[in-house]
Amino acid sequence: MQGLQAARRTATMERMNRDSETKRVSVIVPFLNEQENLPLLYDRCTQVFKSQEEELELVFIDDGSSDGSLSWVKQTAEKDPTVKYIQLSRNFGHQRAITSGMNLCTGDAAVIIDADLQDPPEVIAEMIVKWKEGFEVVHAVRSSRKGESGLKKLLAHIFYRLLSKMTEVDMVVDAGDFRLLDRKALDALNSMPEQHRYMRGLASWIGFSQTTVEYERDARHAGVTKYPLIKSISLALNAITSFSGTPLRFIFYMGSVLCTLSLGLAIYLFIMWNFIQSSPQHAGTTYLTLAIFFVSGLQMLCMGILGQYLRRVFDEIKNRPLYLIKQTNCEGATS
Ligand code: UDP
Ligand code: MG
Repeated sequence: MQGLQAARRTATMERMNRDSETKRVSVIVPFLNEQENLPLLYDRCTQVFKSQEEELELVFIDDGSSDGSLSWVKQTAEKDPTVKYIQLSRNFGHQRAITSGMNLCTGDAAVIIDADLQDPPEVIAEMIVKWKEGFEVVHAVRSSRKGESGLKKLLAHIFYRLLSKMTEVDMVVDAGDFRLLDRKALDALNSMPEQHRYMRGLASWIGFSQTTVEYERDARHAGVTKYPLIKSISLALNAITSFSGTPLRFIFYMGSVLCTLSLGLAIYLFIMWNFIQSSPQHAGTTYLTLAIFFVSGLQMLCMGILGQYLRRVFDEIKNRPLYLIKQTNCEGATS
């Protein structure tokens, strides 16, 4: 941890000492066994920056690869000083790999991009245009996705829409992790210590001026996906539990409805069968069934209430800042 803080401090110093005229854009590339893709990605990224006035910093993050990816990156870094690399001690997962790159990059803005060339590096130029217009977060939205299974596409389609309905934050629909973040947005995200990092949600949560650019998501250039359906589902669950209390409220409402209906029906039948008409033979079973429904409803209701408290504990533990400042002229403020 000490090492990380020192590295972060060095990155900050580096940024401050630099010639402030030329802006730097860090391209953050998390990779897990992508040796066939990295050289082409490197070529296409450097090509894009040949016609940009900003300078490029390419930050490769090795998330526990066992192929030749890292040695390729190291060799390239020896020849090209714009290439940086971070080797994680093991596979920590895509979201944490991205986090390490965001922590240590030195750009005035950063673009997160997958290593498999599904996100075309040429779109970075469009993102930079938006950044220069003053947007601090530029999400790349997929107008189409090539080379992915029909089921994954369908589930992704439903999931993004469901999530944006369930959360209080405006989440951009159909955006993955391909996005540009201005230094302000980067610093804000770096200040969030939470463990379960759903970067797409956090990037919307921080606010600032946000916009989108559309792109066609290509098929993977080489290799196989590191996000099988089961991992995508776990990312989706992570997103919902990190950003929405709706499932907890759902339990609470279900319990309330079940309790009220079963109790109401029991009272109604009791009056019917005792004062208006004679009780049928199955009256006992009916009461018993309603009692079971009532007790189950009560349990759900209590779980829902407990859940609400748990949610508050959870929110406290996440330790997200209560607010983020985009600009101020207040003395003593850090921004
Ligand atoms: N990745 C990673 N760590 C992981 C899984 C994936 O760094 O544990 C990288 C992977 O190498 C790629 C990016 O994250 O650069 C997105 O993964 P992938 O393309 O396999 O996901 P998909 O596009 O199929 O959802
Ligand atoms: Mg991919």
